[in-house]
Amino acid sequence: MFERFKTHLTKVLSEIESAGLYKNERIILSPQGAVIRVSDGKEVLNFCANNYLGLSNHPELKAAATEALETHGYGMSSVRFICGTQDLHKQLETEISRFFGTEDAILYAACFDANGGVFEPLLTEEDAIISDALNHASIIDGVRLCKAQRYRYANADMDELEQQLKLAQQQRFRLIVTDGVFSMDGNVAPLDRIYELAKQYDAIVMVDESHSAGVVGETGRGVTELYNLKGKIEIITGTLGKAFGGAIGGFTTGKKEIIDLLRQRSRPYLFSNSIPPMVAAAGIRMFQLMETTNELQEKLHQNTAYFVSKMKKAGFDIKPTASAICAVMLYDAKLAQEFAARMLDEGIYVVGFYYPVVPKDQARIRVQLSAAHTAVQLDQCVDAFCKTGKELGLLKNK
Ligand SMILES: *Cc1c(COP(=O)(O)O)cnc(C)c1O
Repeated sequence: MFERFKTHLTKVLSEIESAGLYKNERIILSPQGAVIRVSDGKEVLNFCANNYLGLSNHPELKAAATEALETHGYGMSSVRFICGTQDLHKQLETEISRFFGTEDAILYAACFDANGGVFEPLLTEEDAIISDALNHASIIDGVRLCKAQRYRYANADMDELEQQLKLAQQQRFRLIVTDGVFSMDGNVAPLDRIYELAKQYDAIVMVDESHSAGVVGETGRGVTELYNLKGKIEIITGTLGKAFGGAIGGFTTGKKEIIDLLRQRSRPYLFSNSIPPMVAAAGIRMFQLMETTNELQEKLHQNTAYFVSKMKKAGFDIKPTASAICAVMLYDAKLAQEFAARMLDEGIYVVGFYYPVVPKDQARIRVQLSAAHTAVQLDQCVDAFCKTGKELGLLKNK
């Protein structure tokens, strides 16, 4: 049968390619950082990693990982509840709840798994999930695995959320779920309003802090810190794969009884391997670092403000952002691709996003700032934007 199947696959692949949607991977030869070496040997400035705090190649995290490799070995070869829990895993869970001001936490192999395993154990067909239309793919998949009734509201649209909450009054329990930061625009969920509506319409709230943890809020505790809601949100999910060192791992943290039930019933927790000891140890060191200083958050916030203001002054159309994501709007898909390619020639690695990843005619370059960027590097990036913008006729010659 494979010959026939192969013909089918080849056809699908060529459709993807002719639609201009074929994804290629760029090979990096160096550690992740502000400067990376790509496969042709060229060094470029990296403005498209989730390395918000510059921890991906941090000496202290590497030292903690190396030490744990010696003391705790390489892998666990087990799920948590059989024989895959070391002191390090428990300690990391404690650090996560301390960081977010929550009651308990449970680790997963990734946030994709945390979101995949959170809804189905907690809710049934008697209940309702009310979800932001721009929530991450892993939330959408997690909701699909659960039998609860599904309601959707347009991105951050609080009138629509209220309407959906009214419709959902017939169900037993209601859960509102939102990303903390939406990755395409960099906007923050209006969690203050969501929390009020949840109180008014008898619902609980879940926030995925993957892009916001470590970044948003004065000390980087995420959207719950920004809106003064620390400890009040029932469920928070997040990743160790972005600001928090970028290795691997995800978590759910929040109310104790919720975490307890997840340990009993959450399938990606019960049926998938524990994270490696060295990753747990580096995670612990990272959270300890966060306890002692906000230096990296402050640097990141400064860098973002500096970059956004220089880009606006230069005449670029920037989406309002409350995170370390800066969407430079170009609207046209071809232009976004051409722009990103020319930026790479200038030694700046940024990525163009266009339909279907963002709405039609909303193409953009997404810039991700990092605490690891120096002022000189930020200037180089802005200069390359200006040069390219003039070449492509976007900016008037100033
Ligand atoms: C990146 C991301 C995830 C996935 O995290 P992983 O740990 O890489 O699986 C989930 N949710 C959101 C909102 C994300 O941005």
